[in-house]
Amino acid sequence: MLFLPGVMVLASAQAAAPLQERADRFLDVVNATYKALVYVQSQAQWDAATDVTPEHDAAAEVAGKAMAAFAGNPALIDEAKALLKSRNDLRPTSVRQLEWVLLNAAEGPMTNPKLVGERIVAETQQASTLNAFAFKLDGKPITANQIDNTLGKSRDLEERRAVWEASKESGAALKPGLVKLQQLRNGVARELDYPDYFALQVAKYGMTTDEMVRLQDGFMRELRPLYLQLHTWAKHELAKRYGQPVPDRIPAHWINNRWSQNWTGLVDAANLDDRFKDKSQEWIVKTAERFYIGLGFDPLPATFWTLSDLYPVKAGETRKKNTHASCWHMDLENDIRSLQSVEPNDYWFKAAHHELGHGYYFMSYARPDVPPLLRTGANPSFHEGMGELITLASAQLPYLQSTGILPKDYKADPTAFLLEEAFANSGAPFIFWASGTMTHWEADVYAKNLPPDQWNARWWQYVRDFQGVEPPSPRGEEYCDAATKTHINDTPAYYYSYAIAQVFKFQLHDHIARKILKQDPRSCNYADNKEVGAFLKGIMEKGATEDWRKVLRDATGEDLSTRAMVEYFKPLMAWLEKQNKGRKIGWD
Ligand SMILES: [Zn+2]
Repeated sequence: MLFLPGVMVLASAQAAAPLQERADRFLDVVNATYKALVYVQSQAQWDAATDVTPEHDAAAEVAGKAMAAFAGNPALIDEAKALLKSRNDLRPTSVRQLEWVLLNAAEGPMTNPKLVGERIVAETQQASTLNAFAFKLDGKPITANQIDNTLGKSRDLEERRAVWEASKESGAALKPGLVKLQQLRNGVARELDYPDYFALQVAKYGMTTDEMVRLQDGFMRELRPLYLQLHTWAKHELAKRYGQPVPDRIPAHWINNRWSQNWTGLVDAANLDDRFKDKSQEWIVKTAERFYIGLGFDPLPATFWTLSDLYPVKAGETRKKNTHASCWHMDLENDIRSLQSVEPNDYWFKAAHHELGHGYYFMSYARPDVPPLLRTGANPSFHEGMGELITLASAQLPYLQSTGILPKDYKADPTAFLLEEAFANSGAPFIFWASGTMTHWEADVYAKNLPPDQWNARWWQYVRDFQGVEPPSPRGEEYCDAATKTHINDTPAYYYSYAIAQVFKFQLHDHIARKILKQDPRSCNYADNKEVGAFLKGIMEKGATEDWRKVLRDATGEDLSTRAMVEYFKPLMAWLEKQNKGRKIGWD
């Protein structure tokens, strides 16, 4: 950190100069160093995620310390605070950058280097436990993809239950690390005057914990009528499928997803996996890129194809990699990579479109007018929302026909497609998982210090109350089922962002379909429409230079609202009410 004394010299030497000039000089140095360190840290983390070894973990730890030493340097914190005292005399983009200096500092404030050091070690250990955890079924290794494939296909409840229970084994291994991290994460947040880690994360939205929880509760209130209809219909279908009596709550192992976050596979008519049989894994990713090029975006940089890790580890290879799909902005410029395990099926077709959404967001704001500190989404949900918007676009029937996945004369059942959509991550069950279980549990753990010996009971209380789902048998505190979810470990106090992203996505989609394409939002095709591309680019190229509420209002004329989402599913709601006539609705 040789240059750091320079920062302090610069800051004080410029004290007599006009304030804006002092801020400019300060931010020039911070931006340049931040960008360089992001690259160093990303490279180390990339290696650790794509090839899990103790050596790579150690390197990632060192890089994490270097970033923390810079971002959390007390001299930086003091200067940003001092400048923000006169925020009205500074340009708005300078103010936003200074606020980001403080938000970044809060992740590792070197006012308490011991605490920060302990946190980095604990985070790295947790990531390693998570990435390398070996699931076992009847004593034999089983991969996460194999677990999901069995839950997606098996009609044998005993087999489903065994696989579901196997998928929960990682939680117990991850709990001790999570207990330690809860303390350490809250500790670092308090160093910068945030009450807890949850409050620090929601500050990126300019909101408090209570405001965020209220926003999420509002989503659930508005979507509840739809959710109750979907829940009732689904449990009747599943009871029929497995030859069981209709339960009040749905047993978790009846559902394809390990956390019941989506309920796919209920609608046979809409299952497209067979349509990908003659496609290659490379075709999946190339088709996703082609979508963006058609909208007027540039091709992905050549290094994307040489440096990404896109496909499953080959048989016989011993390398372990993180199986969770992600997209990385390595250098905040053009080194954009994606970590996936693409196989030719419907899931990865959508996931590849989604991940490249992040990639094109990166490419759009990596431009001279956006300082490196603000090369991020207008808020954290905008990134996810953009990815999810493209997932929705990639599932539209006319698009599937234009890419040759479905024949031109394919006769679709619009209700089946809408049902599949409603059960996927874009639908109502996802909101009750994200806004309900995930948000409330993490708010309890971080903001209310819920004791670890109540973690699993609280988790299942929320799954029962919000999602209407229950475990196949009681889950005691020897388990930590929350920790089986990747984000609980490595992206804490963040998951409400996915719920906001869904709501935001439907607003953008509604605008694109009705105002630009002049097509039905439930059956439209973005492909090759340059006006759609320009609309998206207009939002993405801003990065975080403006307040997200303004960006959303400028783009769509609306504030954040579930209006578009409720309207999208209106025809389905009417159909469900007819199907569910005479059935008991809800689980209480
Ligand atoms: Zn994403």
